[in-house]
Order: sequence, then C-alpha cells, then structure tokens
Amino acid sequence: MNPQLTDVFCKLAYLLATALFIFSLHWMSEVKTSRRGVFAGSFAMLLAVAATWVSNGSPKFYLWLVIPIIPAIVIGVWLSMVPLTAVPQRTALSHAFGGLAAGLVGTAKFYYWYGHEQNQLTKFIVTAIILEVILGFLTFTGSLIAAGKLQEIKWIPQRPWIYKGQNLVNLGAIGLALLLGVMVIMNPTSAWAPWVFGLLIIPLALNFGWMLVLPIGGADMPTVISILNAYAGLSAVAMGFVLDNKLLITAGALDGSSGLILSIIMCKAMNRSFTNVLFGAFGQVQSAGGKAEQKSYKSATAEDAAQILESSSSVVIIPGYGMAVAQAQHKVRELHDLLTKRGIDVRFAIHPVAGRMPGHMNVLLAEADIPYDKLIEMDDINGDMPQTDVALVIGANDVTNPVARHDKSSPIYGMPIIDADKAKNVMVIKRSMNPGFAGIDNELYYLDKTLMLFGDAKAFVADVVKELSGGGGMGH
Ligand code: NDP
Repeated sequence: MNPQLTDVFCKLAYLLATALFIFSLHWMSEVKTSRRGVFAGSFAMLLAVAATWVSNGSPKFYLWLVIPIIPAIVIGVWLSMVPLTAVPQRTALSHAFGGLAAGLVGTAKFYYWYGHEQNQLTKFIVTAIILEVILGFLTFTGSLIAAGKLQEIKWIPQRPWIYKGQNLVNLGAIGLALLLGVMVIMNPTSAWAPWVFGLLIIPLALNFGWMLVLPIGGADMPTVISILNAYAGLSAVAMGFVLDNKLLITAGALDGSSGLILSIIMCKAMNRSFTNVLFGAFGQVQSAGGKAEQKSYKSATAEDAAQILESSSSVVIIPGYGMAVAQAQHKVRELHDLLTKRGIDVRFAIHPVAGRMPGHMNVLLAEADIPYDKLIEMDDINGDMPQTDVALVIGANDVTNPVARHDKSSPIYGMPIIDADKAKNVMVIKRSMNPGFAGIDNELYYLDKTLMLFGDAKAFVADVVKELSGGGGMGH
C-alpha cells in the first residue's frame, strides 16, 4: 500500500478507535447498553491492532508479532471462559499482563536506546520510561497476588499479612525506587545507569507490588483491583509517550481514570479512605470467630418460608455471593414472578460490593430478566426496610452484617450495609453458619426475628417455588 495512504488510514483508525473507547465506557455505565459498550471496546481494540499492524511493513516485524499473538489469543480465549464468579481474579490477571507488557516495553526501549541511540534518552522520555517501568512492574506482582488471594490459592494468605513497621518498609522501597529513578533521569547515559535501572529499580518495583497487596485483606480486594487497574492505565499512558503513540496515551488515560473513579466509588461504598485501604490491613480475622456455635439461632424449612412469604405484602430480596455460586438467579426470578402474581411487592436490594465484582448482582439478575426497576440501590432501599415485611437474604453475608454499624473493633466497621435487620422478619438462605468473605460472624443470624434457611441457594429457592406453586403439598 502507498505509505502516505497507509499513514492516513492509521490516523483515521486511531481516531475512530479513540472515539469508540470513549463511547464504550459511556455505554458500559448502564446495564441496558453495556453489551454495545463491550462490542464497541472490542472493535476499537481490533482496529487499533490492525492499524498498528499495517503501519509497520517489514516482514520480520510480522513474524515477531505472530509468535506472541498466537499463544496470547489461546490464553485470552481460555481466560474468557472462566465462570462469572471467577471474573475478579481473571480481571486481576489481565491487569498483571498489562503491567508486565508495559514494564517490558519500557525496559526494552531503555536498553535499546542506551545501546544504539543515546540521543533518544531525553529527560522527558526517561521520566516516562521510569514511570512506565515502576507502575508496570508493581502492577504485575500486585495483581498476581490479588488474583491469588481471590482464587484462594493455599500458599497466598487470604488475611492481611502484617508485621511491625510494614508501611515504613513499603514506602521506603517505593521511595528508593523513585529516588534512583530521578538519578537515572538526570544521568541516563552514564555507565552506571543500566545497572541501577535493571538491578535496583526493576526489582524494587516488583517487590513493592506484592508487598503492597499482601497486607490487604480479602474484603478490600475489589478496591485494590480497581486501584491496580488505574496503575495499569497510567503505565500505558507513560508507554504511549515512550512509543509516541497517541492512541495508547488516550486509551491508557481512559483506563487509568475509570479505574480511579471506580476505586473512589468502591471506597465510598465501603466507607473507607484510599490510605486506609492501602495501609489499614483491613479484613483481619477476628479472634471471636469461634463463638458462632454457642449463640442460638432459629432455622426453618422451605414450607415455613413459603408460608411467611405468602402472607406478607412486601418482600425485599438481598442477593449476595452465594446466589452467584449456586447460579440461583433463574429460580429467584421464578420466586419473584410467583410472589408478584399474588400482589406482593418484591424488590431487590443491591449492595455495591455484594458478590465478587462491582455490578455482580446486577449482571446476574439482568441475565435472569428481572426488570431493572426492581433493582434498588442500597441507599435508596434502606429507608424502606422498617416497613418491609420480609427481608429475604439469598447467599449474602458481609453486606448485611449489623456489626459494621457499631463494633469499632470489627474489620468491616464503617462499611455501609443493607439494613436487613430493620425489616419485620428476616430469612437467610445459606448452607451453614460459616462466615462470608471477611471471615467474621454475622449478628443478623442470631436476631429473634431471623430464620435461617439452610441449603444450597438454588435448591432451597426451588423448594420454596415448589411450595408456592402448590407442588409441595401446601393448601391455597
Ligand atoms: P459473602 O462472601 O460475605 O458471603 C457469601 C455467603 O454465601 C457465605 O456466607 C456462604 O455461606 C454463602 N454461600 C456460598 N455458597 C452458597 C450456596 N451454594 N448456596 C447458598 N449460600 C451460599 O458475600 P456478600 O455478597 O455478602 O459480600 C461480598 C464480600 O466479598 C464482601 O466482603 C466484599 O467486600 C467482598 N468482595 C467483593 C467484591 C466485589 O467487587 N463485589 C470483590 C472481592 C471481594 P455458606 O458457606 O454457609 O453457604
């Protein structure tokens, strides 16, 4: 192709890809348009790759591209097939790969220019390279630890791993990496610069990543993942400056800022500050966990539950991670339909961190075709809880724990919760008295008005549905 024409095509493709990335984010902010957002984002990425592909015509270049692209596609397709419940750790792995790619590109550029074209190593470019490499490598190891924690890999502690003076050590490590970075920026062509770069800055960044995430407990993982998302985006911005690629700069900026905005939303949802998430060792297990067995609670059967539901006029369903694991959303939809048909007002209370990823409950309930207007955000539904006849908790735990309101020693203290305990009656479907993600006992289960409905969420809801449809021997 004529080189000038190719250049015009690439610029146009980059422009279109940038616009599509922006629209993609806009569309993804609403459930109704989110599919369109995903397609737009994927198409923009394809366009960006195609334009980059044709902009460099050397056959040797094509060969070098094909070799890593084939296994990358295979791994990507395989990763895309994980169940919905594993999406958070899959997302963390994507950030790890993004961070590693940015770190490696920055490293390759630094050493290539140092060996061949030292005049390229201007202060501006070296600053971009140092930022790209530090952010990229810390995102790599930090995201690997986050993925491991979420996957509950045995040799990675789920609980905060803390020791005395930890914050000082962590800040010291990143501070030293930045200081050495400044030294390299000031003297990029000195004899010692490649050594400091490769033997000190890179290892310090790699170390800082895992040291940053290891002390953070499970309950804070959603926020950590979105912060790592922001870091990966920022390292892509720096990479855009290094490679002089404007599309990378805009795509990285969108990625970085959306990660940051999501982190702020998550922090607000959990009533935490950034510094508290990063340095507070949140999610520590309480030693009082063993008391659960001694306290008394009441349990009931599917038949009892069906009778209580039938005689109520308002029901708020509070879904959580257990509903996702059990894939109970379609049965829950049947329950919703049956109750609604009887004139009972059924709504769903959505906690921003219920499940294992932002929007997890919205996605599941939308998949089961539950009308959007039935999904009510936590802040909007809490005011109605005292007038609600039944709060039906399905596989949710931490997000309903009243301890968050009053027990200052609790690791979830301050996290806003769905006020299930304020409803007139509470029913909780779960398999046992085991704690949820934060590893703590739930006060809700021991209230006088609470009935525990033990069983797998899908099977139990199916039993209640059977009772309500007359299949379980109930008279109507
Ligand atoms: P939790 O993890 O607190 O509790 C889930 C409950 O579901 C468990 O207590 C479990 O009890 C029950 N459960 C598991 N499997 C089944 C099943 N098959 N049938 C019925 N019940 C089942 O979930 P929540 O949604 O309340 O809270 C989310 C937690 O996850 C928060 O701590 C949040 O910070 C954290 N988190 C959230 C992320 C997000 O982005 N949303 C990401 C990462 C973490 P039992 O074993 O007795 O059945």
